[in-house]
Amino acid sequence: MNNATVAKHPCPECGGDLQWNAARQALVCPYCGTAAAWSPAQPADPGTAVIEHDLETALRNPAISRDWGEKRREVQCQSCHAISVFVDGRVAQRCDFCGSPSIIAHEAQKDAITPQSLLPFKISESQVRDLIRRWYGTRWFAPDKLKRAALTDTLHGVYSPYWTFDAQADARWTAEAGYYYYVSETYRDAQGNTRTRQVRHVRWEPASGQLAHFFDDTLVPGTVGVQPELLAGIEPFPTTTDLQPYSPEFVRGWTVERYQIDLRKASELNLADLQQQVRALCSAQVPGDTQRNLEVDARYRGRTFKHVLVPVWIVSYTYGSRRFQIVANGYTGKIAGKHPYSWVKILFAVLTALIVAGVMLYFLDSQ
Ligand SMILES: [Zn+2]
Ligand SMILES: [Zn+2]
Repeated sequence: MNNATVAKHPCPECGGDLQWNAARQALVCPYCGTAAAWSPAQPADPGTAVIEHDLETALRNPAISRDWGEKRREVQCQSCHAISVFVDGRVAQRCDFCGSPSIIAHEAQKDAITPQSLLPFKISESQVRDLIRRWYGTRWFAPDKLKRAALTDTLHGVYSPYWTFDAQADARWTAEAGYYYYVSETYRDAQGNTRTRQVRHVRWEPASGQLAHFFDDTLVPGTVGVQPELLAGIEPFPTTTDLQPYSPEFVRGWTVERYQIDLRKASELNLADLQQQVRALCSAQVPGDTQRNLEVDARYRGRTFKHVLVPVWIVSYTYGSRRFQIVANGYTGKIAGKHPYSWVKILFAVLTALIVAGVMLYFLDSQ
């Protein structure tokens, strides 16, 4: 495993630490406002290409000790258990994921795998506020408090951890392929008349085959801070095409969530996912009209992984005693969220519907 240090890019004017600015799509100096030239790294760029790591080697020795580029601080939320990493000396007062004030310092683990690449934020704060306002506009029965929550300072930009896996799958399969055929049968109906009908039968024949398939960048989330169903609702993140090599400029000023689904667990989840997909691909190869007893023997070669960060905007708020999250994909702007229902609004809508129905009945009656 390489022990690379991360290249730093200071401000060309004053030497200050540059930060990624989503609205300007540039690295901007927070001290003098200078925007430094930055262009997306091309996958073919020597030295900057995003590297895939061999999975087996990493599982034997999990220390991929590429550093974060500068000092970092980790805190854990006592309420939702998300671990936040700050690389800029900033200390949060509240948890970015759930809004809880009970956060404590977390001992940074030495064997933690640091991110190798990320998707920089593309949707700026003002853009995401507009998107959330529009999303809220389509939620008729949400309480008005939600609208206020979406517009105040509870909005946070967070880099969320993902594992991505590549693998070459080679499989052999056997199955029984079924072919339909129809036979005319005579029978007596209820009136005692002789009739004929077509009855379907299945002829079973043994079948077998082989499958070779390359899986590129299958994703496993490593987050506990974002609810899984909400995260699934804002996927996909274009990790196969638009990843940039990790650099502290991109995450400075933002919160990074530390993964809590570790590499071993993530690789097991990934394997289960691959096995399901291989089975489905083999099943699709079985000839005939139907099938049974599909047996698949699959091998996986050259499994590699990357630890990547993807951009997520989060609004968290409490309503009554419950916590709710609205999340937005920081790259595509796709939104997923949960919200409470306003019983006053629902009651009002039901009463309105009843009055309309009542009025219509009155007029129908009087005709
Ligand atoms: Zn500067
Ligand atoms: Zn929390």
